[in-house]
Amino acid sequence: MEPHADPPANDAATAAGVAADGLVAALRQEAIRLGFSRLGVARAEPPSRQDAVRRWLDQGFAGVMESWFERQMPLRDDPATLLPGVRSVIMLATDHATKPGGQDAGACEAGRGRVARYAWGDDYHELLRGRVNRLAAWLEARAPGCRTRGVVDSAPLAEREFAWRAGLGWFGKNTMLIDPRSGSFFLLTALLTDLELPADAPVEVDHCGTCTACLDACPTSAFVEPRVLDASRCISALTIEEHGPLAADLRPGLADWVFGCDVCQEVCPWNRHAPGSTDPAFQPRDEGATPSLAALLELDDEAFRRRFAGSPVLRAKRRGLLRSAAIALGNRPHAPSFDALAAALADEEPVVRGAAAWALGRWRQLADGVGERAHAALAARLAAETDADVRAEIERALA
Ligand code: SF4
Ligand code: SF4
Repeated sequence: MEPHADPPANDAATAAGVAADGLVAALRQEAIRLGFSRLGVARAEPPSRQDAVRRWLDQGFAGVMESWFERQMPLRDDPATLLPGVRSVIMLATDHATKPGGQDAGACEAGRGRVARYAWGDDYHELLRGRVNRLAAWLEARAPGCRTRGVVDSAPLAEREFAWRAGLGWFGKNTMLIDPRSGSFFLLTALLTDLELPADAPVEVDHCGTCTACLDACPTSAFVEPRVLDASRCISALTIEEHGPLAADLRPGLADWVFGCDVCQEVCPWNRHAPGSTDPAFQPRDEGATPSLAALLELDDEAFRRRFAGSPVLRAKRRGLLRSAAIALGNRPHAPSFDALAAALADEEPVVRGAAAWALGRWRQLADGVGERAHAALAARLAAETDADVRAEIERALA
């Protein structure tokens, strides 16, 4: 499916006598048979929002993803860098929410953390890569001689803009693409081809209207203005991509999120009637949606890799996930988790030790002897701790 050379743009659809409209209708049917939810076609013209993305980068709003974006930007300017001679970008949406609607907003049971919906089940990259490769093979069989390339997330393609152009939704104030019938809980996949296919019309209407629910609900005030996200404050970026210590002022906002955050989607009225997915790949694994925080803190490296094999949660790395689990316990103390949290003060990773110290500092006010135990655990650790940053965390926690 990968391009091998730079041949001229392909007229296989017409050369083979295949009516392009009929081809897209059949392609749509095949995509749905393979497990995709919707499909739209955009012309493969360079994206028009690159300047806005550059301004966003220059303002420092990409946070920990800045260097990734910097590397990708020159290549994102033109989809032909991914497939020479490309004429059409077929954008595919896959609904992933296994519970329909946004009714899950709010905290889960004490002692448990929350995981963003897309990560409840299997890692979608492999799943969607397999599906898009099968769809590409189908297209190549129907239009012999055409060239294709499937893209799932990792290649430098302005996927959301192409999805908007392909009619898959409008840009909500929460920056997500929202489909008027299906909401925003969907994943994007692209299939590039040198076939000239009829393009769909973009959703030009801003269906957000006067609503500001997502902007108001964001726990860390990560929206600078509608449709402008400061990723350095976004829980999703912080819990998935940032594996070091988190700024103290952002920690309370994490509440019980340990991987990702769905708040600005859960409150969106367009997700109230979103269809649920019955795809087995997205069904929650064992405790996938609300894992026990104490159990997370007890994972060593091998147990972490075993537990999250084939899950998107692996991306957080052990130290990032355990750091977030400790912070979640600091935000919502749960006495039965005390031993796991106190043991995390001696974790091999300084970032986990520091987060456990911060959390236990917040437990010091608790009644029934829990506060005293938290104080004693911190004081004992201070005597043994050699890392300067962790010592500083412990001292602040004891202050
Ligand atoms: Fe805010 Fe969470 Fe949305 Fe990020 S994902 S912008 S933290 S509500
Ligand atoms: Fe738009 Fe309201 Fe949804 Fe935000 S919550 S994306 S403002 S409709």
